[in-house]
Amino acid sequence: MGKMANETAKAELGRATWKFLHTMTLRFPDHPTEAERESLKQFFHLFSRLYPCGECASHFQQLLKELPPQTSSRMSSALWLCAAHNKVNQRLGKPEFPCDKLDETYDCGCGDGKAKDGSALGTTG
Ligand code: FAD
Repeated sequence: MGKMANETAKAELGRATWKFLHTMTLRFPDHPTEAERESLKQFFHLFSRLYPCGECASHFQQLLKELPPQTSSRMSSALWLCAAHNKVNQRLGKPEFPCDKLDETYDCGCGDGKAKDGSALGTTG
């Protein structure tokens, strides 16, 4: 693969992944159990070891050390991920995203709007 094709593939993978990650944290419960909190924390650590772009994965592992995942609530996790993504944006010379626009930007298409109380998690929603 040529350099441009590599860059295009890496960017596409990045966009799809960020979309998934932001949508996931915005569906995290407002009042998570200890087990849910531990799952989210473990998820990001495993994710940072398995992400297919090696350069991105090692940068993200470093970022997790500087900015450990916040798991106490839906908004704390969503705002943490927004800040982490903004750190990556900064490094790549991309504009900062306004984190107060998260809820209006990401819609999981689960049919019931946002799970503000976390109640739709683990149901058919
Ligand atoms: P993206 O950064 O992919 O963002 C997609 C969309 O998300 C934006 O258009 C915007 O609507 C929204 N958005 C932007 N910022 C935020 C935010 N802070 N919070 C919520 N939504 C936001 N590429 C590299 O070249 N080198 C790397 O080291 C690298 N590391 C990466 C690490 C991870 C964990 C991931 C998931 C991707 C990484 N990438 C890396 C890819 C890179 O971050 C971009 O995904 C890619 O360059 C495409 O950028 P984009 O401009 O389309 O927007």
